Amino acid sequence: MIIARDLTKTYGSKVAVDGVSFTVEPGRVTGFLGPNGAGKSTTMRMMIGLDRPTSGTVTVGGRNYADVPAPLRSVGALLEARALHPGRSARNHLRWLAASNGIPAKRVDEVLDLVGLTDVADQRVGRFSLGMGQRLGIAVALLGDPPVVVLDEPVNGLDPEGIRWVRNLARELAGQGRTVLVSSHLMSEMALTADHLIVIGRGRVLADCSMAQFITDHAASYVRVRTPRTAEAAELLVRSGLDVDRHGSGVDVELRVQGLDAAGIGDLVGGAGLHLHELTLVQSSLEDAFMTLTASSVEYAAGPVATAGAAR
Ligand code: ADP
Repeated sequence: MIIARDLTKTYGSKVAVDGVSFTVEPGRVTGFLGPNGAGKSTTMRMMIGLDRPTSGTVTVGGRNYADVPAPLRSVGALLEARALHPGRSARNHLRWLAASNGIPAKRVDEVLDLVGLTDVADQRVGRFSLGMGQRLGIAVALLGDPPVVVLDEPVNGLDPEGIRWVRNLARELAGQGRTVLVSSHLMSEMALTADHLIVIGRGRVLADCSMAQFITDHAASYVRVRTPRTAEAAELLVRSGLDVDRHGSGVDVELRVQGLDAAGIGDLVGGAGLHLHELTLVQSSLEDAFMTLTASSVEYAAGPVATAGAAR
């Protein structure tokens, strides 16, 4: 388990992580979601001892990273801006890390195979593409077969096949009972990968719940009803205790109904002898929900053009 308690990190007057508390549990993929600059990387860096908390604590498996005897065997991490020796081959880079962590050399070939780099294992990493670099970073993370895996924006730079591969890998690692924390600034990515979600904005936890709960709480849905007899339908639905909003005018008028599923609403309206021209479940996207939740915490907000394009 990863446990953060009141974790805080400041850089001068900048509060990057602001009193964050959460628990990352084993056996599921936890998504660490937040806009750029939210404090995800800083939090992850503190987990693996690359940064010291200004106050508060974060422990992995009950210990501070600094107290872990063979770090790569306890926590595997892929962090951005990984320092690689550009002249070294992927295989040599992994061999060197394996040797310094007491990991048998044959594990190097296993992880190279696992991440699909066997064919280029002897090329200099300085010539690797961003995607190949990500795969090598993941190989490093898995080298010590650790029970806890922390991946910061692992799909950055990967092609669609690579993205699917990372997703499946994260799920597989969690399925083996490991603790898996994956960060992203993309809700769509998290929706496909994570069982549990920790949303962070401006260094604070905004939500900590299951993916299913997040969808229920934040992705509002309504049923769009169009009928030539709008006024009567609206009256009937309100009388049945439903929330009804009228939108548009003339032939474009529609009712947005909440409180009952589409079938139930159709039965009510049709049962009263009113013709239905449309009955559609409209679900606002999770991306919209995430943007609404973090709107006030986006550090570098886009201008009005981008905002209008993103809204639907
Ligand atoms: P995320 O990973 O969510 O994009 P980061 O953890 O990288 O966010 O950054 C959180 C905030 O802390 C940002 O405002 C960033 O500019 C700031 N920050 C991160 N690292 C440093 C640093 N070494 N010095 C100063 N500010 C930093």
